[in-house]
Amino acid sequence: MMSVGKVRYRWDNGTECYDLEVLDPAATVADYEQTVSGILAAPEAKKRHSEHCVACSICCGGRLPLTVVDLYRLKMGGLGMALPLNGWAAAYGLVQQQDGCVDITLRLDEHETCALWNREDGLCSVYESRPLICRTYICAPLSWRASELRGQIVNAGEDELVRMLGLADGNGRTEKTQPFAGVLDYGGVLLRDVCSDRLWHSLTRQDGTSE
Ligand code: SF4
Repeated sequence: MMSVGKVRYRWDNGTECYDLEVLDPAATVADYEQTVSGILAAPEAKKRHSEHCVACSICCGGRLPLTVVDLYRLKMGGLGMALPLNGWAAAYGLVQQQDGCVDITLRLDEHETCALWNREDGLCSVYESRPLICRTYICAPLSWRASELRGQIVNAGEDELVRMLGLADGNGRTEKTQPFAGVLDYGGVLLRDVCSDRLWHSLTRQDGTSE
């Protein structure tokens, strides 16, 4: 299966995992998010994965980190719309601090499942405005670079949320070095700006290898 645009995501039969390449240096996080979230809608992916989905909700549990853009999007979607950022984080998030680092994640219920997951119908209650970590989750193995890109985007966006909430200095990032500073949506963040040099080099290689 293949998705072609500024970002290409494909199933690699050789390594049996999803792999990702950046085809255009001007690609943004929005391009990445749209490409990856579209993968599961493709017929081949549906055949490969959806038939086996039993709505177990495992993909809606565990650590669910939030970025500053996720929070804006959830608010715009109607969740805690009138709350200030720190009130929103207190109501729907879980803020944890350890060794000088701050982690902001979606709040879980007593079953360790996302509190926004509707137990009655087994569906996400904020589907249209769900966070990037949810949109880009694929229930299949990922290559090193596909997994690393997802992690580096989320880390950068979460650091900016930490900074915006005044909880710390953004886990070491300043406003000048923070690609999410002043940004309201993922279209305003270049993938190049969130990637380490090593990751960017790997993502823009066109030889099909991941490192
Ligand atoms: S926001 Fe929705 S998709 Fe994301 S973990 Fe919660 S219930 Fe699942």
